[in-house]
Amino acid sequence: MAGSGKFFVGGNWKCNGTKDSIKQLVSDLNSATLEPDVDVVVGPPFVYIDQVKNSLTDRIEIAAQNSWIGKGGAFTGEISAEQLKDIGCKWVILGHSERRHVIGEDDQFIGKKAAYALGQDLGVIACIGELLEEREAGKTFDVYAVPSWDNIVIAYEPVWAIGTGKVASPEQAQEVHVAVRDWLAKNVSPEVASKTRIIYGGSVNAGNSADLAKKEDIDGFLVGGASLKGADFATIINSVT
Ligand code: PGA
Repeated sequence: MAGSGKFFVGGNWKCNGTKDSIKQLVSDLNSATLEPDVDVVVGPPFVYIDQVKNSLTDRIEIAAQNSWIGKGGAFTGEISAEQLKDIGCKWVILGHSERRHVIGEDDQFIGKKAAYALGQDLGVIACIGELLEEREAGKTFDVYAVPSWDNIVIAYEPVWAIGTGKVASPEQAQEVHVAVRDWLAKNVSPEVASKTRIIYGGSVNAGNSADLAKKEDIDGFLVGGASLKGADFATIINSVT
């Protein structure tokens, strides 16, 4: 654990679930024993956020999986940061590789969303996945040149590891996390570099999380598939030592 603050574990439910399956998942999470010293967040699909908010223990905070770049209004199909706040979300996941590569969002668009959400007091789980290539292209991620880093958690998710069962080795993840931290130190400030939590995502499961969690610069996880099973997600949360 290098970033200050607690270990951070987010569950990204993506476009999964029904009222019934989510009722079961919430009930499993409510009855799980969770390590107290870990921040835990789950990201249900928009349409189930209210159901989850009304039934899930307050111990776990709620993230949306996307938000609009600005104030609401005539933007069909979009959800604003203000609306997310209104229904009790504390966080929003932005820049996920599925939104970049399947939906076509680019850095500029994601950067606008991040700045706006932070301005509305939402925490941002900012996903990066192409850091190495971007770094080679001299691009890195200036997109996150936001006014304040206090409410940002960076999720490093190598695209080849997402949903594939091919998890990065603890060494591979650690190496990139250190590179991200160095980048922050040079391009933002040493203070932000040392306090920002950098979490790993991509095929994290109940069997591999403990080894990953031992690495100094892995400050938590963003979990997709395995977060849909309450018992597995609890094991991942409790894997911090
Ligand atoms: P996965 O997804 O755990 O199913 O690989 C992670 C993510 O996309 O956040």
